[in-house]
Amino acid sequence: MANKTHNKSFQRTHKKPCAAELSRSDRKTERTRSMSKPTKIKELTLYEVNKLLTDKKFSKLKPIKCKFCGEEKRFSRRIFEVNGVAKSKYSEDKTQESIRVQFRQQYPIDFISLKTHEGRFLIDSAVCGICKSTAIVYDIDLFDLDMIAEIQKLTGKSKEDIIIGLRQTSDMLKKN
Ligand SMILES: [Zn+2]
Repeated sequence: MANKTHNKSFQRTHKKPCAAELSRSDRKTERTRSMSKPTKIKELTLYEVNKLLTDKKFSKLKPIKCKFCGEEKRFSRRIFEVNGVAKSKYSEDKTQESIRVQFRQQYPIDFISLKTHEGRFLIDSAVCGICKSTAIVYDIDLFDLDMIAEIQKLTGKSKEDIIIGLRQTSDMLKKN
């Protein structure tokens, strides 16, 4: 009896399933096996995205213009979370490059930015509400009052001077 059970489990673990038999998660594991740790990319739900967008630190950079059609207001955001990467490796070029490769295999989005936020490794993208392009220009929200107050504390400058400085910097960045 004991022998029979042993044989069964032996068979199960050594039977190689064909590709069609692999479940979706199994295939993902196959794909990421070449990396030392399995890295998983998961899209945040609408609720999670909206919650994140109310976070002032995360929302400092806002989508402001579609590179293709020039739309300036109607954008939707798609944000993804990367799991399985050690925090110390978040900023490594090698890590970021392999995340980008993996992301492209999973989602049809060309333009993404990798961000770290409160210890989380996130992939941010915006989609133009008009032409559906993901080539969107981001900019600092110049009139974020909390940010201006922070700069005021750090520099001792007046609000007006800070806004003028931010405008000039932003214009310079747009020209380049
Ligand atoms: Zn557009």
